[in-house]
Amino acid sequence: MIELLYPRIYVASLADIPLEALRRERIRAYILDLDNTLTMWNSNELAPGAREWLEDLRAMGGKACLLSNNHQRRVAAVAEALDIPYVHKAGKPRRRAFERALEQLSTPHQETAVVGDQVFTDILGGNRMGMLTILVKPIHPREYFGTRLVRKVERLVVKRLPQGPTAASR
Ligand SMILES: [Mg+2]
Repeated sequence: MIELLYPRIYVASLADIPLEALRRERIRAYILDLDNTLTMWNSNELAPGAREWLEDLRAMGGKACLLSNNHQRRVAAVAEALDIPYVHKAGKPRRRAFERALEQLSTPHQETAVVGDQVFTDILGGNRMGMLTILVKPIHPREYFGTRLVRKVERLVVKRLPQGPTAASR
């Protein structure tokens, strides 16, 4: 059970995800969490380098889909600005959330990675689907109280992780 909480790769931010290396592992689509992964918490401001990373992904023929538990107006605004599909009020870590994102992408789970900043929603959900999971550091500390409690547990998990994309060959 505990291994379902461990990401395959741990990076500082979205822009640090090694697209080329993962393409060699046949990863060509990314399911992206929104708050604190792609944008600041509850803001439309993108993480540093996020737009460029998406352009690089597109340039190599890859694609992305937003998968967020947040409400439609919030998720749609960012998705439309980036011209990518989205799933809102997703209910991560439930399987159905990830299945809906895979439907949007039309890629098999073996060729799709899940990216997010939360172990108990993004990583747990992606691992249960058998997808490659990538944990990023949350980009803004302001969050719901409940999330802050979960973070304390996440820090215990993260402390035991090797840093950087080298973990890809675990
Ligand atoms: Mg998040």
